[in-house]
Amino acid sequence: MKAMVLREYMKPLALEEVDRPAYGPGEVLLKVKAAGVCGTDLKIRDGLVPTKELPLIPGHEVAGVVAATGENVRRFREGDEVLVSFYIPCNSCPTCLSGRQTICPQLKGRIGFEFNGGFAEYVTVPEDCLISKPQAISFPQAAVISDALGTCYHALVRRAKVKKGDSLVIVGGGGGLGLHALQIAKWLGAVVIGVDVSAEKLDLMKAYGADLVIDGGAPSWSTIVADYTQGLGADHVVNFVAHQQSIDEGIKAVHNGGHLVLVAYSKEVKFNALWGHLHEIDLLSTRAATKADIEECLKLVTANQIEPVIDQRIKLGDLNHGLQLIKEGKLKGRLVMDME
Ligand SMILES: [Zn+2]
Ligand SMILES: [Zn+2]
Repeated sequence: MKAMVLREYMKPLALEEVDRPAYGPGEVLLKVKAAGVCGTDLKIRDGLVPTKELPLIPGHEVAGVVAATGENVRRFREGDEVLVSFYIPCNSCPTCLSGRQTICPQLKGRIGFEFNGGFAEYVTVPEDCLISKPQAISFPQAAVISDALGTCYHALVRRAKVKKGDSLVIVGGGGGLGLHALQIAKWLGAVVIGVDVSAEKLDLMKAYGADLVIDGGAPSWSTIVADYTQGLGADHVVNFVAHQQSIDEGIKAVHNGGHLVLVAYSKEVKFNALWGHLHEIDLLSTRAATKADIEECLKLVTANQIEPVIDQRIKLGDLNHGLQLIKEGKLKGRLVMDME
C-alpha cells in the first residue's frame, strides 16, 4: 500500500510502498478514506512530541471503512463506515472510569503517534477506538470531528464547563480549531469574543457568530475585553495560540476567579503566577477528546448545530505541502487528506 512515512525528524515525509499493516484479535483493518492534517503533525515531524521510534506513519484524525476484522471483533464488520478515537486507553483504571481516558496512566498509545496512523491507504485500529459514522456525515467531516471539533468540545464542555450566559474569549478564534470552539461556545449560549490577527480571520469569526472581534495585534487588547464586560473581564479565556504575548494579555482578560484554558501548548510559555494569585485564576490544561466527546460532537453535527470547517483537501502525496500550509498559518479551517 501507499503511505507517507517519516524516517527522519525535521525532514519531509516520503511517499512509499509499504506492507499493509497486520491486525490481531480485537483489531480491525481500516481502508482510510480521509485523515485530518493537524498542527500536531508538524510537531511530530519536527520531533517535538513523543512518538514511537521512527519510521512512523503519522495521521491521527482518521475516517474510513472497515476492510477486515480480527478475532473477537463483534461490533463492527467489513464495509462499516467509521471514525477513530485515536487514544488507546486501558478503559478500566479509576481515571478511565471517571471519563478522563486521554489522561489514562496506562495509556497504551495513540494512533499516529505510538502506532502507525492514517496517512496511508490502510491502518490498524483496536475495535474499542471505532465510532460508527452516520451516512449524512462525509469522511472528511468525520476526520475533522475526531480531533479539531472533539478537542474544542472537551476543552469547553468537560474542562471549562462553559454555561449559558458566560463570557468567553477565544484567542486564535479564526483558526482551524478556534472556529469550532466558537461554534460550540455559541451553541452553549455563551457571549463570545474572538481574537485573531488578520482582517480575513476577524471576518470569519463574525461569520461564525462571534459577538465581538478584536485584532490580537493591538497592544493591550485585554482592555477591550474589560470594556465589553463592564470592567470585569471574561469568565473564560481559551488560548489556541500559546505565544507568550497571547498568554500575558489573555490572563489579564480573565474575570476574577475565572479560567485560563490552554488548548495550545508549548514548553516555552510562562504564566504570571502573581497575577493568577491576586485574581484566583484557574489555569486549565486540556488534552484532546475522549471517545464520548467525539460521539457528542457527531450528534451536534448531525443535528446541524455545528459545521465542521474544512478549508482545503489534499491528496496523500501532497502531505508535505499541506504541512507547509499549516506552518504558514494561513488556513481558514482544517486541512484534510482525502483519499477519494
Ligand atoms: Zn490533531
Ligand atoms: Zn485507564
